[in-house]
Amino acid sequence: MNKIPLVDLNAEYQSIKSEIDASIERVVKKANFILGEEVELFEKQFALFCNSKYCVGVASGTTALHLALLACGVQPGDEVITSTHSFIATAEAISHCGAIPVFVDINPLTYTIDPDQIETVITPKTKVIIPVHLYGQPADMSPIKQIAERHGLLIVEDAAQAHGAEYHGQRVGTIGDVACFSFYPGKNLGAYGDAGAIVTNRADIAEKVFILRNHGRAKGMKYEHSIVGYGERIDTIHASILSAKLQYLEAWNERRRICAKRYSDMLSGTGIGVPFELPDVKHVYHLYVVRHPQRDVFIEAMQQNKIGVGIHYPIPLHLQPAYKFLGYRDGIFPHAEKASREVFSLPLFPTIEHAQQDFVVDTIKNALGGLPNELN
Ligand SMILES: *Cc1c(COP(=O)(O)O)cnc(C)c1O
Repeated sequence: MNKIPLVDLNAEYQSIKSEIDASIERVVKKANFILGEEVELFEKQFALFCNSKYCVGVASGTTALHLALLACGVQPGDEVITSTHSFIATAEAISHCGAIPVFVDINPLTYTIDPDQIETVITPKTKVIIPVHLYGQPADMSPIKQIAERHGLLIVEDAAQAHGAEYHGQRVGTIGDVACFSFYPGKNLGAYGDAGAIVTNRADIAEKVFILRNHGRAKGMKYEHSIVGYGERIDTIHASILSAKLQYLEAWNERRRICAKRYSDMLSGTGIGVPFELPDVKHVYHLYVVRHPQRDVFIEAMQQNKIGVGIHYPIPLHLQPAYKFLGYRDGIFPHAEKASREVFSLPLFPTIEHAQQDFVVDTIKNALGGLPNELN
């Protein structure tokens, strides 16, 4: 078996090469690299995809979170609640506003924020809750929405890993007040560099992000700046590529779901912990994450067989050196801490072949067979 990558972006490109090349050439030929037609078109298409009214393209998923929080009125000293089991960008965006990330443990079955623990950390300074739709599965939004309503808080969805995921029949992106997407190359919808977007039904939030991303310029104004903004626009070339790829997203997500189910069918009952789907959600499997207390044994076996493997994520945010100053101690969020020691991600991408999946599963089963009996 040849090398199996964790994500195969080259196979994806080869499958739609002519459309991608045309989308790039269109922008290069016009030499219109900043904002313009392609950006507006992609924003319209992506808003439609999410069933939302507005979409504003920005420079990255991290920027989307940062500007969304600013648009929600988050100010220095405010508190923003989020899951400790996420990529650090979720917390960085909070810090970029001068606000304080307040971490919460996860539901160990879904790896998403445990709604029951949110209320215990709400204070008068709390402004926003950021549920992260981790690995492609929506967080449990119903109880989160009830809590937000009860306490007058806003919800910013971190949907960076969940393009097209659904919760109770509703696409992520319109469940909270605003949702943030990343188009980092390896995401379910990926650009050829950094890109991101916010999606919202709230005109005021869309307008604020629209102004913030482009140096505080009011619409139609070049050198009049109504507020101090940022240079955080989406690149036109990425918007054009994203439009070309968006037509395939739905089909690609279906492929991911089918391949994820295939892995789960083959691995369940073996002692490897397979993903758990909440009832009435559509998980889009940005990552296929399994768990086992002897993670290192499997990672080594996969590496020896040239199989790509990832750990998402090995250190929970509350224990990151960057957030040491917040003073969280080891042991405070047992579910996230245990997950960080046990999870690992198997290769999953829309073009993955059955033979590749079979080889991954055989490799894992062989490694399981080599464990002492009480552990497998
Ligand atoms: C990728 C990601 C981000 C950040 O997106 P970038 O485009 O890389 O800035 C934020 N949150 C989560 C959960 C992510 O996976």
